[in-house]
Amino acid sequence: MKSLDLRADFPQLKRIIRDKRLVYLDSAATTLKPLPVIEAVRESMAFGASNVHRGAHFIGDEVTGRFEKVREKARRFVNAANVGEMIFTRGTTEGMNLLAQTLGRTHLAPGDEILLSQMEHHSNIVPWQMIAGEKGAVVRFIPVLDDGSLDLEAAYKMISSKTKIVSLVHLSNALGTINPVAEIFAAAKAAGAFTVLDAAQSASVMRLDVGALGCDFLVFSGHKIFGPTGIGILYGRFELLEALPPYQGGGSMISEVRENGVTFLPPPNRFEAGTPAIAEIMGLGAAFDYVNAIGFEKLEQHSTQIMLRAEAGLRDIQGLRRIGTAAHRSHVFSFLLAGSHPSDVGAILDEQGVAVRAGHHCCQPLMRRFGIPGTVRASFSIYTSVEDVDALIGAVYKAKDLLS
Ligand code: PLP
Repeated sequence: MKSLDLRADFPQLKRIIRDKRLVYLDSAATTLKPLPVIEAVRESMAFGASNVHRGAHFIGDEVTGRFEKVREKARRFVNAANVGEMIFTRGTTEGMNLLAQTLGRTHLAPGDEILLSQMEHHSNIVPWQMIAGEKGAVVRFIPVLDDGSLDLEAAYKMISSKTKIVSLVHLSNALGTINPVAEIFAAAKAAGAFTVLDAAQSASVMRLDVGALGCDFLVFSGHKIFGPTGIGILYGRFELLEALPPYQGGGSMISEVRENGVTFLPPPNRFEAGTPAIAEIMGLGAAFDYVNAIGFEKLEQHSTQIMLRAEAGLRDIQGLRRIGTAAHRSHVFSFLLAGSHPSDVGAILDEQGVAVRAGHHCCQPLMRRFGIPGTVRASFSIYTSVEDVDALIGAVYKAKDLLS
């Protein structure tokens, strides 16, 4: 099996941690950044320092043009129809809060239901709980089966005329499960509900197509697709966005302000109050280019090969309990070692230069469902090599010896 030949693009992989080369297996938390992304951010700060949509000067126009080109790249990335459907946010979390405070605030009444699942990240739970609390709405959770897949039979039974919003994760950050969201969303839409997709993890490994997925809204973060932190995308169907009130007020989102009132710009500007994260947006544009140049076929193929090698190498470790064995899964290997706390295992791996995450992965309801405090999670990406996986396998054997 060959590793993809792009590790040289990622400077962080050259770091030596405690006299050992870095084995970075925490890509589900954030991916490493390739040189073109780093260069785009540097270039923006060094030579493109100007605000957007307001400068009466050359650099202002130049930066505005580049900024809007990134919006167009985002549109193509999710195959949306209209560039006005792409909103720059701080990330997945802000996208969800925006939806809860606009869609939720205007469409929920007492007794209405918001349908989530037990495997959601807290960013797809807490914003809905907050608005449900204010509106007297009810948050319900599709159960997760023992293999880490959704209980689809239960899901279809839970969708009814009371369901107003169905918001689901595409690819679970804690389990790796890929959910059949298009089917669930079709049932949700037939019942008259709005559909929201958390694509934070899927965006780096699966080609997204909002039409085929059947989502009214979709959110993801730049930092999980090789881009900078502090920037993300919210897609929304234009006619729905047009009917929503603003999320925040301020500059750049109004058409007129008077002492006795205000009128707002249409989407996307209505939802982008204040000076945006310009350098980060330039970095995100470079990240879209980087992913497109590799191609999703290669991304998926690499992620599958790496996962198969990890599974084969870790399968025979006695006392290793894998959490998340659904048939359709990707780039995340979550596990526990019998008799050990995940954070102790994580610390031993770290001592060997293997960076993983240990904990609840911002999925406490899911951990409670499995009756565990958390898991050790190794997550892979395009730069993960065969040697990285072998280092993980060796380090887990060592942890097992030390802890037993
Ligand atoms: N949803 C999923 C599935 C995630 O994995 C994450 C981050 O780990 C988030 C949402 C939240 O993303 P962010 O912290 O970038 O807003």
